[in-house]
Amino acid sequence: MLEQYGLSAESRAFLETANFMWIDGEPVQAAAGQTFEAFDPASGQPIAALPAAQAEDVDRAVASARAAFDNPAWRMMRPNQRERLIHRLADLIEANAPQLAELEALNNGKGVKIARYGDVASAVNYLRYMAGWPTKLEGQTMEPSVPYMPDANLFGYTRREPVGVVGAIIPWNFPLVMAAWKLGPALAAGCTVVLKPAEETPLTALRLAQLVQEAGFPPGVVNVVTGLGDQAGAALAAHPGVNKITFTGSTEVGKLVGKAAIDNMARLSLELGGKSPVIVLPDADIKAAVRGAANAIFFNQGQVCTAGSRLYVHRSIFDQVAEGVASIADKMVLGDAFNDATQMGPLVSARQQQRVLGYIEQGLRQGAEALAGGGAAERDGYFVKPTVLSQVNDQMSVVQQEIFGPVLVADSFSDLDEVLARANGTQYGLGASLWSNDLKAVHYMIPRIQAGTVWVNTHNVLDPALPFGGYKQSGIGREMARQAVESFTETKAVLMNL
Ligand code: NAD
Repeated sequence: MLEQYGLSAESRAFLETANFMWIDGEPVQAAAGQTFEAFDPASGQPIAALPAAQAEDVDRAVASARAAFDNPAWRMMRPNQRERLIHRLADLIEANAPQLAELEALNNGKGVKIARYGDVASAVNYLRYMAGWPTKLEGQTMEPSVPYMPDANLFGYTRREPVGVVGAIIPWNFPLVMAAWKLGPALAAGCTVVLKPAEETPLTALRLAQLVQEAGFPPGVVNVVTGLGDQAGAALAAHPGVNKITFTGSTEVGKLVGKAAIDNMARLSLELGGKSPVIVLPDADIKAAVRGAANAIFFNQGQVCTAGSRLYVHRSIFDQVAEGVASIADKMVLGDAFNDATQMGPLVSARQQQRVLGYIEQGLRQGAEALAGGGAAERDGYFVKPTVLSQVNDQMSVVQQEIFGPVLVADSFSDLDEVLARANGTQYGLGASLWSNDLKAVHYMIPRIQAGTVWVNTHNVLDPALPFGGYKQSGIGREMARQAVESFTETKAVLMNL
């Protein structure tokens, strides 16, 4: 199967040696020798066997990150030198974009062009944005007025200091981008990192570790431990040597990770699940809304934390919009990542495919009607047909739960307050989009939507300068922008009596 994909010599060479994790600037094996397999989701074939890190391996990685944090070569490095290193890393990722895109596409199932011009390009753009931050991190000065020291000549100021060793646990939907989201601000702030990629998609994180080394970061500043969530991930989350845990993944696991982290008083940021509404107002440009709603749910096979998985359309135009999205779904070409005709790839794993199919069956059993799709595609690999369900009600699990696959539920609404209440009526609050040019309505809705991001006439568009994160059970803290970098720092207050 792999021969058929026409992989480059560089990618084939990497795959032949991709049997390591990365600690202290070196490829290493798990101490106890366990391994796990990574798969090509379009065929179900194994493509690599990686070390399955256990607690002792995580110990070793954390010790390496600690030593690197304490090493003056990193700790005392001037901000402009950190800036240059992060830029060099971004340049190296760009120079290796074709290979990184192939590895990502092979391991995740997303189209190779999307991987290259979407994922790899976004990772580069993100790191370049973050490279600007080391020289801009600053504290404040203030004039104290302490009532019981009226005559003292006091001077106060604050410093931003790196939080220390960071444990970063990431999911499989955008493996390289997620790694960049963690490394960029952590390195900008001067931290060191132990990164645990998802067991489904470890390959690009390992290539990235090599590029970090090539860029000239001191050994141990970035370590990558491969392994299973409940072993390597759990050991990292609970490690007393970790000063901050940054996690992206499901709300369920996020809570476990958060509880483990708080036992060590590790700082914490969590980017979790979502069930984002797409709300089409009566004045919307119908063609744009149909295309936008289809992209909002079907991009990346629906495996996007902000996927627009609930479509609410004003009743005056519901049929047109819902049928328009269903017709796009019906025509989508399913296939592997390396076929130019492919419009939708497989889901990442057999487990994820079963999970998504389980939700669809449950929805249909509870009375939903499939306007498009409604099951697995009849072919090898972990494919699910793009699915649009109507005749749903707000209590159904397909409306309430994050499915994380190409499944849209569509319903109509009559007025703004009604749709706002329904849009806010899940445990999640990650994203939402409004499709309208009615400024009065849009401005009425934006403050009333409980979500970290609100898009207007677009969906799933992110910029590194805009903070990203969730309300409610969608998480704690923000990635991107100033907030992300500051979340990898401690604020130290200094008071001087002069
Ligand atoms: P998951 O939570 O099972 O896994 C995410 C990561 O956590 C993986 O690296 C996994 O190995 C690790 N993990 C699993 N169990 C663990 C444990 N007990 N202790 C520590 N680590 C553990 O999520 P998933 O199903 O693989 O990924 C999909 C989920 O991620 C979806 O719910 C999606 O919404 C969420 N997600 C959120 C964002 C965001 O930015 N908010 C982005 C992408 C994905």
